[in-house]
Parts: sequence; C-alpha cells; structure tokens
Amino acid sequence: MVCHANNVCCSYYNRFSPIAIAGRLKNDMQLLKLTRWPFAGATLKQKPLLAATDLCVKCGLCLPECPTYQITLNENESPRGRISLIQGWASGDLKASSSLHRHIDNCLLCRSCESVCPAQVPYSKIIDEFRSLAGKGPQRAAAKVTMLASRAVLVNKGISRFASRFAAFARSSRLLAAISQKSHLARQLTTFLSDFQPHTRRKTFYPAPSTKKGCVGLFTGCTGELFDTETIEASIRLLGRLGFDVWLPPEQSCCGALDLHAGDTKKAGMLAAANVRAFDRPRLDWIVTLATGCGAMLKEYPAYFPQTEQLASKTVDICQLAREVIEDRQMALQPLNKTILLHAPCSLNNVLKTADAQKALVSSIPGATIETLDQVRCCGAAGSYMIEHPEMASALRDNILKIARATRPEYLLTPNIGCALHIKAGLKQIDMAIEVIHPIVLFERQLTSGRTI
Ligand code: SF4
Ligand code: SF4
Repeated sequence: MVCHANNVCCSYYNRFSPIAIAGRLKNDMQLLKLTRWPFAGATLKQKPLLAATDLCVKCGLCLPECPTYQITLNENESPRGRISLIQGWASGDLKASSSLHRHIDNCLLCRSCESVCPAQVPYSKIIDEFRSLAGKGPQRAAAKVTMLASRAVLVNKGISRFASRFAAFARSSRLLAAISQKSHLARQLTTFLSDFQPHTRRKTFYPAPSTKKGCVGLFTGCTGELFDTETIEASIRLLGRLGFDVWLPPEQSCCGALDLHAGDTKKAGMLAAANVRAFDRPRLDWIVTLATGCGAMLKEYPAYFPQTEQLASKTVDICQLAREVIEDRQMALQPLNKTILLHAPCSLNNVLKTADAQKALVSSIPGATIETLDQVRCCGAAGSYMIEHPEMASALRDNILKIARATRPEYLLTPNIGCALHIKAGLKQIDMAIEVIHPIVLFERQLTSGRTI
C-alpha cells in the first residue's frame, strides 16, 4: 500500500500512542530512581512532607531539649530520629510498621525541639501531616476506649451533661475507689473523674460593671467547661473589673487540637470553622483564651485552615491581656505570704511565648515567694498523651513532684487545664495537699476577695 502522507501519521502514532507514552514514562521513572531524585518513591501527598523533613540538617541541637530522648537516650525517641523515620517513610524507603508508629506516637508534641532548631524545621506540622497521612499506630484497647469516650464528652454537650451526673454518682458511691485499684490508667482516670464538675449554665453576656474599655469574647474550652469552672468565673469577674464587656458565644466549640494532633485534620477544620462563626462579631476587640493549649491552637489556625486569620489575630492569652491592661493602672492587691510554684506549660513557652507576662502578673502579688519550674521540660500531660502513655507521662511528672516535695508550696499555678489535672493527680498519689489552680484564679482572689458574678 502506498502512503500519500509520507508516513506522517505513523510517525505521530509511534510517538504519541498510549503505549509509547507509557513506555517513555517507565524509562523516565527508572532514570529518576537511578539518579535518586529526592522525591522518588514519594506519592503526591507525601512530597510536601518529604520536603519539610529535608530541612533538618541533623545537627542534633534539639536532642538535649527533648523529654523523651532525655529519658530513653534512644535516637529514635529524639526529634532528629523521628524526622529521619518520617523522611524514610515519605521517600518510600521505609515501610509503615508498628515500631515506626510507636516512636512517632511517643512524641509529646511539646515543641521544645522547634524552639531551639537553627533550621526552623516545622516539627509539629511534620508530625501532624504524618499522622494525617499514615494515621496513628495501634493503641492499647483501654486507652483507645478512654480516648473515644473523652472526645465524645468534650465535644458533645449532651454527653458531657450525662457524664457530669455519672461522675457525681461515681463519687458518692464506692465505684471510683474500686475502679482505681485496677491499673495505672484507671488510677489516673479516677482522679480526673473526681475533678469533674457539674454542668454550669451561664449567661452569654456580662457587661463591664463600671468604666468600659472594650468588649472581649471568652473562649472557655471544652475541658475547662468540665473541669475548671472556677477559672472561667474568675476570668469573667477580672475582665469586668478591667473594663471589658465579656461575651460567651454558646456556639463555640472545642479548639480541635486533640483531633489535629491525632491526624484528623478534617474534624479539626470543622471545629475551627465553628469557632470562626461563633466569634465572628466586629465589636470584639479580643478573643481571650484561658488554657494555653487552646490559645496556642487558635493562634495557629491559619497554618492549617483557611479564613481563620481574623480569629487568630484577635486571640490573646488571659494572663497577657491582664498584664498589659494592669500595667497602665494602679490596682490594689491583698498581700499573700505564701510560696507559689509557677508552672509554664510547653504551649506557653514554645508557642505563645508569653511566659514572662504570666510571671510578671503573679509576681505582682505582694509578699508571695515565687518558685518557677523552668528546669522541668514537659510535665507529661500533653493533651491525650497522659491517657495514651501513662508510664512516660508519669515519669515526666515525677520531676515536678520532686520539686514540690522540696519547696513545699501552698499553691501550684498552671495556666493549662490538661497540665493542672495531670499534676493534681500526681500530687494526690503522693498525698501532698497543694492547691493547683490557674494563675488568674489566685490573682483575682487577691484583687477581689469574696465577690461573685
Ligand atoms: S535542631 Fe533542627 S536541624 Fe538540628 S537535628 Fe534537630 S530538627 Fe534537625
Ligand atoms: S516535640 Fe517534644 S517530645 Fe516530640 S521530639 Fe520534639 S522535644 Fe521531643
């Protein structure tokens, strides 16, 4: 047969047919593998993760700061080791396994490593992204059930009301004492249950009693609502005294930190969007957070979720706001001749970075002797970590208990409810009667004793 097109169509077919394209792609891929192109083996979703891990220059400066490395002296339990493991997994060189997951899950996400890293490796984003792509490793059944139940209680108001009634019943019967004999986790949980507070109905608006300085939204936090109503009430009174109308939108929800760090970015994004809607009021000057863990999450929303910039820019920690406002004016405080052990959680030190404001606020109480816990890295609470890893959490907490034994303070102040519950449980176990409260509670007591909202 004679070809009148001078074989043009055949040559096009030979170059652009699906078989020809597939053949060329295969050759290209082999070449890329041979030249060890950095993203070889990484899927599209893994490439940004791999690029982030490549920022680590393996200098090791983070190792002395890492609580899990300090206890285990195992490189796989260090920031550098965990980054290398994720790098291996993301590049396709290392298969996901229970031991890989175990090393990653043992991380507290305290972010001490991030704050000293000269290469500014986004460590927590690497861990969150890894968990969102690869999930969390297998967990002990007891911890898994506890976590599912805790999340349901924290996020669903109906369930939390029921749980509060159940806790009251368990306290009044011998049920708590019986459960607490079962295991380390059971002991930890029963001390939490004994701190569970009855559901409180609050107004949504508290006008400033006298001079008006502005209007703030109060982010109460799901755990704070269940375990720390004293801080919420003290904060409403203090903010009013400082001249702020206080608004508590009832639609506000959990900050989403637990879900995000468990790899459920979608759920965390839904909670973030609910909070954006709840606090979307132009009149609000500030969105005040009480627990530093929630404050850190709200401040970092824009790194994960779109359209959260306004909420993040208005977010301020209560100690920081109180310190700034009080600096401008004279406020009489009753003296307190007691020893105070002041705790700065990792979320305050490594994310919000406003520990100085907290210290200055507490130090302004006349007569108080302030001892800090600056030499302690992480108390071990770390959100759900204290439930999922009770042994490591308890080993880390021992450093604080040792200092408490040595200094014998009357108060231990911490601005994060998770840390407060964990430390309180430890003190109870060693029979030390120290009042563990939020710094704002003590400060407000010294400012206005006996007032109610
Ligand atoms: S300090 Fe930063 S760059 Fe150095 S090993 Fe640690 S994470 Fe990597
Ligand atoms: S976040 Fe904390 S526990 Fe995790 S690797 Fe960094 S320093 Fe260690």
